[in-house]
Amino acid sequence: MEMKPHIAMFPGPGIGHLTPFLELAKRLVLAHGLQVSFIVIDTLDPSSPQHKLLTSLPSDLTVIRLPPADPSAILIPDVTLLITRISLIVKDSIRFLKPALAKLPPVHAFITDVFGTEVFETCSELRIPVYSYVTASAWTLALCLYLPKLDPDLDGEFFYEPVRIPDCTPIRPDDMIDQIKNRKMTDYDWFLLHGTRMRSAEGVLVNSWEGLEGGTLAALGRLVDGGVSVPPVHAIGPVVRDGEELVEQEGIELIKWLDDQPVCSVLLVSFGSGGTLSRSQMTELAHGLEMSQQRFVWVVREPTDDTVSGSYFNAGENGAKPNSDYLPDGFLDRVRCLGRVVRNWAPQMAVLRHRSTGAFLSHCGWNSCLESTLTGVPIIAWPLFAEQKMNATLLSEEIKVVIRPAVEPGKGIMSREEVERVVRAVMEGDEGKALKTRAEEVKMSALKAVDHDGTVEYVTWRNIPHRLVRGREGDLYWIV
Ligand code: UDP
Repeated sequence: MEMKPHIAMFPGPGIGHLTPFLELAKRLVLAHGLQVSFIVIDTLDPSSPQHKLLTSLPSDLTVIRLPPADPSAILIPDVTLLITRISLIVKDSIRFLKPALAKLPPVHAFITDVFGTEVFETCSELRIPVYSYVTASAWTLALCLYLPKLDPDLDGEFFYEPVRIPDCTPIRPDDMIDQIKNRKMTDYDWFLLHGTRMRSAEGVLVNSWEGLEGGTLAALGRLVDGGVSVPPVHAIGPVVRDGEELVEQEGIELIKWLDDQPVCSVLLVSFGSGGTLSRSQMTELAHGLEMSQQRFVWVVREPTDDTVSGSYFNAGENGAKPNSDYLPDGFLDRVRCLGRVVRNWAPQMAVLRHRSTGAFLSHCGWNSCLESTLTGVPIIAWPLFAEQKMNATLLSEEIKVVIRPAVEPGKGIMSREEVERVVRAVMEGDEGKALKTRAEEVKMSALKAVDHDGTVEYVTWRNIPHRLVRGREGDLYWIV
């Protein structure tokens, strides 16, 4: 019997990386007849959303679990150093990866995370071609690949001028990825290292498409001509979950509640798997939602005052306090008829797909941006960390499906009045109608980029059409 080509995939820690990896894995198995070993690093305390994602998978998709990282190897005092922590977790896991790979049938290609470049050496020793899968925008990928060229010419601790990547929209210092804003921090060093290593990948897959970021994708192709070593980039997006099973009572009740609401009347408020607000920001948001008198679904998790990514590694399951402990007094009673407050986690894709959902107040994680795009739902952008500010800028200034609230000068938070203003603007104003029309146009472009059966469409690299298909004799699967 002919052996199916075998791909190993290695997502970085975090639901925002795991989800698009898993979706791609399912497509490789179901639409392209490949066999996938999906290698995940266990956490000491896997969150239930993560656990659910990794169950009920197709038979040719095998999950291989590596033991959790040694706590002493990832001990860093500063909780905001996210890239460092992720990179150290991956680095520590390499000692388990090699023996795990040795037990597998021959691996024809290895697809690793943007922060998983530690595997490059191992793959090179084992002569396995390695691809990077960037689960972010092409604009972020351009920064990642271009920073190693730019770095020697940069002076000082911070980015003082916009970063100009040839033929790409300049990145303003304010929009720069939060973790690398300060060039003296280890997160910057790690990001630079990942970008440098990624240049030696066989190819880079990016979760975007020409209709969304055609200019940047073309610019990436031309970087080679400017002397920057860039591997072939394959825009395979949007790779997004097509739905989700509602297994929990809370999710089922939420959808039933949405069934009873008027079309496009509900605002979804959610900050992804990792985002958390400070206590004072949460108070302002609660009052603003109430003052707007618009229907809402709010995914609430315990506030954190020292970081805005407080639930990155556990999807919010750290919080033990009841909602009433940190929401304004009487809030839950007063909004009982107006909205639903959901603790920690909601079936986001099911809510976005629902006809009653009219807008999404989002932290602009890339998956949330794509999910909103594919469902034609306009966004109120509330970026918190990582490259979320770049995503918000891209979607507001270029794609024009986003409204951005202003931060109160001096305080660094969004006031309740500003929350009320933007919520009303998007839910009932002319601005909201224009955003909705535009969101529907972008949705059509997203749908066109995905085949009817969810397989990856033709992509172009340097004007040559490629397609993600079952490979030829050797080890390349992206063939002309
Ligand atoms: N998500 C969800 N329910 C929640 C919060 C998040 O289903 O309550 C999913 C969301 O649909 C997306 C992923 O978790 O697929 C979050 O990824 P994103 O890139 O938006 O943000 P991150 O969590 O990486 O900050």
